[in-house]
Amino acid sequence: MTSIPNLYGIVHQSYFELLSTITNKSYNKIEIIVILLEKMGEFLNPSSAVVYYYDEFKNIYQRMDADLNLNSKLEPKFILKEDVFKYKKNDVKITFPFTVDQEEFLYVFTFTNRKLPSEENVEFVKKETETLLKMIGKFRVKKRSNWYYQELFELSKRIFATYDMNTILKEISGRLERNYSEISYTFFLSQDTEVSASLPVKTMEYNDIETENLSTKAFQTGELQSESKPEINASYIYAPLTGKQGIYGVLEINVPLNTSFPKMGKQFLIEFAHVAGKAIEAATLFQNSKHQVSDLTIINDTSHQLNSNLDLGEIVSLLKEQIQSTCHAADVGFIKFYDEYEILSGSSAFFHTSDNMLFMDYLYKKTKAYKEPLFIGNFSDEEMLLPYRSVMAFPMVQAGKVLSLTVILHRDSYHFSFDQFKLMQAIIQHSALAMANTILKDKLKEAVIKDYLTGLYSRNFLEETIERHMREGERGILMLFDIDDFKKINDSFGHHVGDQVLIQVSSTLMNHIGPGNIAARWGGEEIAIYAPNMNLEEGYILAEAISMQVELTTDPTVTLSSGVSAWNKEMKGDQDMLTLFLRTDKALYEAKNNGKNQVIKN
Ligand code: GH3
Ligand code: MG
Ligand code: MG
Repeated sequence: MTSIPNLYGIVHQSYFELLSTITNKSYNKIEIIVILLEKMGEFLNPSSAVVYYYDEFKNIYQRMDADLNLNSKLEPKFILKEDVFKYKKNDVKITFPFTVDQEEFLYVFTFTNRKLPSEENVEFVKKETETLLKMIGKFRVKKRSNWYYQELFELSKRIFATYDMNTILKEISGRLERNYSEISYTFFLSQDTEVSASLPVKTMEYNDIETENLSTKAFQTGELQSESKPEINASYIYAPLTGKQGIYGVLEINVPLNTSFPKMGKQFLIEFAHVAGKAIEAATLFQNSKHQVSDLTIINDTSHQLNSNLDLGEIVSLLKEQIQSTCHAADVGFIKFYDEYEILSGSSAFFHTSDNMLFMDYLYKKTKAYKEPLFIGNFSDEEMLLPYRSVMAFPMVQAGKVLSLTVILHRDSYHFSFDQFKLMQAIIQHSALAMANTILKDKLKEAVIKDYLTGLYSRNFLEETIERHMREGERGILMLFDIDDFKKINDSFGHHVGDQVLIQVSSTLMNHIGPGNIAARWGGEEIAIYAPNMNLEEGYILAEAISMQVELTTDPTVTLSSGVSAWNKEMKGDQDMLTLFLRTDKALYEAKNNGKNQVIKN
């Protein structure tokens, strides 16, 4: 056995050497702990020596199985904190609690079948080891803080040099991975940010279950949070990404439970996350201001163009262009609600299919009730089976009435960002007035050129059309129809029934004339059709068909007398509206004289 003065000398000598090696070589914490275990073992000569680290999450001393020496594996795997005192009373064990890099360690030396060292020697070894650790500690704090200021400086230098979120997050990731190889981490950002898919970035969720989370707590309080999850053998650290004006998210770090994470590292992490937060803040503010400028430019350009007296079709195609370029939308639809709904041309094909009926109904009811835009990221409805997940719908409300609805769709869920939604809302609000004006203007124009009772064009409009066409076109047909004995209908059934018959006759006519031809109310119960580009024979056949149909569909049944005349450029004599009309009227007169219910061409 070593005598006291001898032990003093050995310990002094040994620790002095150790101090210079430790300060010259960069040992890590575990290496220092193991070296000390060996040294103390040499001084005390136990039958087994083992070291435990304190697990603050579990409140136990956990055996370090890194190495080690002698029969350490026979020692208990962990010791409850309160049992450490029991050990002290046990005469075969000596325990030393020490702190290294602010973490607690417990050295346990067991002396079965070996002589226990004197209390004096034990006290001496303990004191000397403490002194040594203090000196090592001071040195290491200095060295580490030098290192981490250097590291933070390097990080700042790089991430403040850019406003690009991707570059910033990549740089932060790279440094985390270099400094803490065993951890895994995720950035939870409060704004959805487009970054490279390889980066572990998620958007923070704000649903009810999540508010219990420590990550949310870190976000709300701006303070570092940590928790242990033994069931998945991990502990979590949540470092808020704080900037000057706010908190931009949380850096979640997952540390495997058997890895001891240095306390110094926690302080470093707080600083690290703060530097990261400031860079993210700068980039966010920069991007926001850039977005705002470009959003304002888009809104401004759009309203400028809208103010230049466009027709509805032009407004729709302007809006469609803006929507498709800003939102990368798959399909866009414009629905006009005015009495009945009408899908405006310019809408994507989907809106013209019958599949959309239920969906339109749904949108109409929703927007009519709330008069607010819809923003749905993951649309699903068993009845509708809509092939779109992302849905945005913007009603245009004028004087409390939904005038129209702009619908923007994409097949993927969560395709549109909230920023895009806000931008679209602004653009559509700006175009609402122009669109409402155009719709009202169209309505007014229609009221002027159309007959109120029958919905046919007015005589004035027809005459203008014929005059224009006779100047510009090649040929055309005018037909005049007069309801036979209409007075009798009025007399027998009343004026109201007479009106209904007039409406029936008009709608039969409109259904028959085909595109490009127009029907107008010529007088009381006289209707005219002008068919540009038809010849006399074709006109005659059409008039016959219409007359037959009217006889079949009216109730009470009426018949028509009709006169048909043609003009073309090659014809001799005057070719004007009046001549054409007089010829047609003559034919009609003949039809009446010949016994009515017939077509005469002239
Ligand atoms: P026909 O043409 O076969 O010679 O006999 P008619 O009885 O149809 O001819 P007439 O010109 O004598 O009478 C036309 C009638 O049509 C007179 C008028 O009361 C009626 N009428 C004209 N406009 C309207 C209308 O808007 N509503 C109703 N209910 N009747 C109308
Ligand atoms: Mg008449
Ligand atoms: Mg008549």
